[in-house]
Amino acid sequence: MIRHGLWADVPEGDWEDWHWQTAHRLSSADELSKIVELTPEELEACRLGHFRMGITPYVASLIDPADRHCPIRRQVIPLVGGAVDKGSFSDHLGEEEHSPVPGLVHRYPDRVLMLVTNQCAGYCSFCTRSRIFNDGIHYSRRDHDRQIDYIARTPAVRDVLLSGGDPLTLPDTVLEDLLRRVRAIEHVEIIRIGTRVPIFLPHRITPALVETLRRYHPLWMNIHVNHAKELTPRAADALAMLADAGIPLGSQTALLAGVNDSVDVVRELVHKLVMNRVRPYYLFQCDMVEGAEHFRAPVSKGIEIIESLRGHTSGLAVPTFAVDIPGGGGKVPVGPQYLVSQAPGRSVLRNFEGYIGTCEEPLDYSGETPARPVGPKRGRGAGQEGVAGLLAGHADALKPAGFDEAHDR
Ligand SMILES: *Cc1c(COP(=O)(O)O)cnc(C)c1O
Repeated sequence: MIRHGLWADVPEGDWEDWHWQTAHRLSSADELSKIVELTPEELEACRLGHFRMGITPYVASLIDPADRHCPIRRQVIPLVGGAVDKGSFSDHLGEEEHSPVPGLVHRYPDRVLMLVTNQCAGYCSFCTRSRIFNDGIHYSRRDHDRQIDYIARTPAVRDVLLSGGDPLTLPDTVLEDLLRRVRAIEHVEIIRIGTRVPIFLPHRITPALVETLRRYHPLWMNIHVNHAKELTPRAADALAMLADAGIPLGSQTALLAGVNDSVDVVRELVHKLVMNRVRPYYLFQCDMVEGAEHFRAPVSKGIEIIESLRGHTSGLAVPTFAVDIPGGGGKVPVGPQYLVSQAPGRSVLRNFEGYIGTCEEPLDYSGETPARPVGPKRGRGAGQEGVAGLLAGHADALKPAGFDEAHDR
């Protein structure tokens, strides 16, 4: 196993112990200077105290000290991009206004995001939720009670996504208690965990943890991973344990300038993910985080990456590129256009090679198969039908706020 010389004498038992790794994280410029020679820009960013740092010895050992553009280094050692007001981070995704109780974001009709901790195994300088660990927001047992109570009295919720912070930094007992209580709610069909632990702290994926998780199926897990270099043999072992426990694995990747804003880098990443039984799920446009301006690539870069993957490689390896609209708009998938034109009876389509063909369609199509419900019927929430509601004929138009007043002249 790769280990920086600084930890050459640490016994294997300690190195493999996630508590040891967590306790020995590097979190200041002085500590970091023991493993890499910091550039003046990095020193300045560390000293500014704007970004939280916490780099496990395992991750620190993956940094190439000779390469200031090392993709691991760029994610965990800060640089300042754009003007920053020290330690001040906004809620640019409007999560607070969608929170009926603290830490529970109910943005979409049938699923909720449950922020259960403000701790991570390591901290990324482009973190979209920097506000929660910088503003000292904590989620206590009392918050968990209120979150679970909200889910229990909201039958529309069929999917609960545990995130934070990173849920896998919680002690087994606390995590199991949360899983048990969420699983006990009859209308909750699936539980998901969003985590970066298999990448930053694979030692945390112990046989005991895996045994706990598998008791709460159907349980899905999405790992946050941005570069093939993060998928080390040690991380691969952790992912294999999770996959062997029947946990379907997906990945979420942030599109980051200087780290992975390249067709070749993303192709290598998605191929390595599927070899590890991880299905690439989302590729995200980097959010507007204070001090992370230098990580942002244009939306067109994401579209170009998808264009270069779709059709050229396994469909299984192609994630959905999505932009989270600031202010609470939510995730919007964007990608290349394949529909060239349409007329009754025909759609004209182009494929990944540029071949343009025609799909003949029935002119006498008389409507969809009637549903034969096999479970509880869940109506779409009022006011949340969107464009699907227009197609169903439930409304004629969607109007922005103030539209009628402006046109009532
Ligand atoms: C991303 C997200 C979800 C889950 O979205 P999916 O597209 O179902 O993966 C749920 N709630 C919030 C607030 C989110 O940001």
